Amino acid sequence: MADLSKAIYLDANATLAPLPEVVDAVVEHLRRPLNPSSIHQYGAYAKYVIEEARSQVGQYLGAQGAHVVFTSCGTEANNLALRGLGQATHVFASAIEHTSVLQPAQHTGAKTIIPVLETGVINVEALEDALATSDAPIKLVSVMLANNETGVIQPLTDVVDIARKYNAFVHTDASQAVGKIDVDLEVLGVDMMTLSGHKMGATQGVAALVFQKSVPLHAIQWGGGQEMRFRAGTENVAAIRGFGVACSHLVRTTALFQNLASLRDQLEVGIAEISKESRVFGQHRWRLPNTSCLTMPGVKHETQLIHFDLANIAVSSGAACSSGKVDVSPVLLAMGISKEIAQTALRISLTPASCREDIETFITAWRQLYHMQLTKRHLAEVRANQELKQHA
Ligand code: PLP
Repeated sequence: MADLSKAIYLDANATLAPLPEVVDAVVEHLRRPLNPSSIHQYGAYAKYVIEEARSQVGQYLGAQGAHVVFTSCGTEANNLALRGLGQATHVFASAIEHTSVLQPAQHTGAKTIIPVLETGVINVEALEDALATSDAPIKLVSVMLANNETGVIQPLTDVVDIARKYNAFVHTDASQAVGKIDVDLEVLGVDMMTLSGHKMGATQGVAALVFQKSVPLHAIQWGGGQEMRFRAGTENVAAIRGFGVACSHLVRTTALFQNLASLRDQLEVGIAEISKESRVFGQHRWRLPNTSCLTMPGVKHETQLIHFDLANIAVSSGAACSSGKVDVSPVLLAMGISKEIAQTALRISLTPASCREDIETFITAWRQLYHMQLTKRHLAEVRANQELKQHA
């Protein structure tokens, strides 16, 4: 078994360790038999716990009047948002959405993929053109608040302004944004928002879809009438309690993440000093303060991941799927990056525990692999030249 105490974790966008306060609250509630559907006092207490967490979510998002429906994960919340408006919905989703948005959109009336610019920002003109040509009775625009791979933040208020002209609902997957930047449902003006517990200091196994009461949403799974009939299934009371606690700490969590921008910049400057050829995607856009998606020219991400893992540094290609296979990032391809370059990209996502030494260790490991690659390239060139001379 690996000794995790020695590892440097730079993969916050994959998952975060829950806050200590969350762990305490979850463990305390795991010890009790809590089913909010029960009529006795345990049930009443469980109901109270859930309602308190609901109010903490609403309070954080400035969305006291909205519905907050707890789900098991961000994926489920996205599925509910995408499919809950019914079969006739025409979905307009950006090309860089998470698969938990893009795949359920395939099961609606129609799906239009809106391209992104080279900067990783949605092409709002293309969105407007697409909406203008649709006569679907229900239109739903789904654009994430921040991208999981590049960290690029999307112009949601522009998206909402355009959507309103065409009577379209707007959903935003804020899974990566909540806890890293300030998020306010009313300021953004969206109709629905996804939050994922394990990306914002709560535990795995809990998430939420927050939506305005004017949205005609229906459940997509059937059974008991839990969660105001929007999500059947016994609630994960302990995890929901943790979710509420994480929400009550989000202002502090966000401040900690905001402080990471200078470390992230230090990392990018360090890499640029080693290689002028390396590239940071979305670098000049408004990005999550903890995220950097950069290339190591000539070195495929599989090789990089193994190298960093051996150096006790946990990073990600950003496009790893559940099978552990590393794919070429559809996000980078959508930004017009060639397959060859996209295959050399790595995502580094800092956590509030990241420090200067972690960045220095990462840069040293990066330099080592890059120089090994340069030496290999140089030797191959020398060999090729020798062969040419021999045959001349
Ligand atoms: N949306 C985005 C942008 C994500 O990055 C992820 C997970 O990586 C999800 C949704 C899925 O969230 P969950 O892991 O809670 O299902």
